[in-house]
Amino acid sequence: MATIKINKQNFFHNLNQFTLKCGSKAQVGIVLKDNAYGHGLELMAELATEFGLTEAVVRTYAEAKRIKPYFQSILVLGDRACVDAHCSFALNCLDDIDQAPHGAVVELKVDTGMHRNGIAMAELDEALQRIRKQGLRLKGVMSHNRSADELSSELFWQQKRFEMVKQRVKAAGFDTVRFHSFNSATALRLDCRHEDLIRVGIGAYGYSELPEIYRVIELKPVLTLWAKRISSRILQKGDRVGYGGTYEASHSMEVSTYDLGYGDGWMRSTRFQSFVTAEGLPILGRVSMDYVSLASTKEEVCIMDNALEASKQVGTISYEMMTLLNPDIKRIVW
Ligand SMILES: *Cc1c(COP(=O)(O)O)cnc(C)c1O
Repeated sequence: MATIKINKQNFFHNLNQFTLKCGSKAQVGIVLKDNAYGHGLELMAELATEFGLTEAVVRTYAEAKRIKPYFQSILVLGDRACVDAHCSFALNCLDDIDQAPHGAVVELKVDTGMHRNGIAMAELDEALQRIRKQGLRLKGVMSHNRSADELSSELFWQQKRFEMVKQRVKAAGFDTVRFHSFNSATALRLDCRHEDLIRVGIGAYGYSELPEIYRVIELKPVLTLWAKRISSRILQKGDRVGYGGTYEASHSMEVSTYDLGYGDGWMRSTRFQSFVTAEGLPILGRVSMDYVSLASTKEEVCIMDNALEASKQVGTISYEMMTLLNPDIKRIVW
């Protein structure tokens, strides 16, 4: 099976950029959902703790339980609330409020324009009343931006709406609530000093999907993907490689099979021309479940050292490129 190498220095570099923008580590929440964007949940939790972060964000309660020892508090974005002093649970609709048990720590998500999750702004007063009645502990009020990584004024329109939400929550007497709406792209674009918390995912792992003009802060890729040589052979002109024999040798050449395939989360898609690895080697023919072929005899090759560049070759985004990677792949820190 392939190997993932995690560059701790680059991870710390990225976390430091966001810490500098905020002013303190306490304001930086590391988003560790979906196996820490494919990097490895416990591993990245441990490194984030070593750096000095105390707040984490995950999707499920099961993920939260796995990393509990590392953080002061963990926000669970997409699971049913329960009573757990360590965890807060995002409330994504009015029903979530009614179903949360008395004493649960919750953070109310308000839909300021993305229309994916959260209560409508018109439901805010109703939601706050129900939270009181239900005996929930409202720790935060949050929102999510739909266009933070696009060059448009939409982000500012949504931020304005969130400011209105803040005023109304405070006016309703909830004065110890924390407010947060920044993801990586928002944090890279706007001043973070007055944010109670920013929720940093992709930026911590080294990427920004923002247009070039926003690339003021240098981020460094954390994950690299490596494959090992399984066997080698000499092909004669006209020999064809792999399923369907879609690659044909145009001359005599030596090729090797490496231990990475779509079973590891590496895309097989034939929509694009052969993927070119980090070392400039095109993948020859089709990707198998556990193997790819390359014109190399090196014992180990780097398949991907930049998920953003790789994602462009296959028509997706850096996020998907990394979260697809099989959790069983060995991860090592270096
Ligand atoms: C995934 C997620 C984030 C992190 O977004 P990035 O673009 O990776 O920084 C922040 N907030 C919420 C609600 C999310 O679901």
